Amino acid sequence: MPELPEVETTVRGLARYLEGERIARVTLNRADLRRPFPPGLVQALTGASITGLGRRAKYGLIHTTRGQTMVFHLGMSGRWRIEPEKPERHDHLVLETGSGHVLALNDARRFGSVDLVDSDQLDAWPPFAAMGPEPLGEDFSTPYLAKAFSERVAPVKPLLLDQRIVAGLGDIYVCEALHRAGIRPDRAAGTITRKAVARLVPAIKQVLAESIEAGGSTIRDYAQPNGELGYFAASWRVYGREGQPCDCGGTVQRFVQGGRSTFWCPRCQK
Ligand SMILES: [Zn+2]
Repeated sequence: MPELPEVETTVRGLARYLEGERIARVTLNRADLRRPFPPGLVQALTGASITGLGRRAKYGLIHTTRGQTMVFHLGMSGRWRIEPEKPERHDHLVLETGSGHVLALNDARRFGSVDLVDSDQLDAWPPFAAMGPEPLGEDFSTPYLAKAFSERVAPVKPLLLDQRIVAGLGDIYVCEALHRAGIRPDRAAGTITRKAVARLVPAIKQVLAESIEAGGSTIRDYAQPNGELGYFAASWRVYGREGQPCDCGGTVQRFVQGGRSTFWCPRCQK
């Protein structure tokens, strides 16, 4: 499932093909993903030029000269195919640019979405309106997170997955960041010391930045026929490593927390 770093890598890869380009043709091969494509999407995009790309949480943003932004979410299985050699069954939306680039949004399970939002209204768009700060942004800081945690009895991991506290974090990155910061995932957030929060905030930023960098290193593959964007193998210290050794000499364990798998090391996470 694409997480924030995969979306960031995808956006950076797409920017190489889309930034400054005119959209010559838009093809929809079905009426919906998780929900219907917005009415008038083809008309709104055809002939518009792309002024830039961006990301908010796990949403990709394609800004156009018409004051509108195409907002995409990759859901569970979404991916953009760059210059596909031939169409595939799940290429639901295809963009062709004035200089002949072809980009196909492929989503076999169709949990993804595409929306069209006025660019100057993005902050007020319902999925974004209540969202907390970007984890890689300056607003996500030790004072901010310490305040968000204060007096909370809820365990720390679900709070970090709460998009109102910080936007776009998923299971993998939360598990890895808590491990790096030496904080147990079921610890009541309000009992975490300021010193530990000061380890956690940079740990979150580092684990995301390293994954984006790892994805970026695969960028050369993007130009290949049938190239896929945004997926890369990463080596995790705890995630998916139940029963395997931790660097500290402990053993990685798994438990189910709020219906999700949590991986951690009882020896070095307190
Ligand atoms: Zn350990």
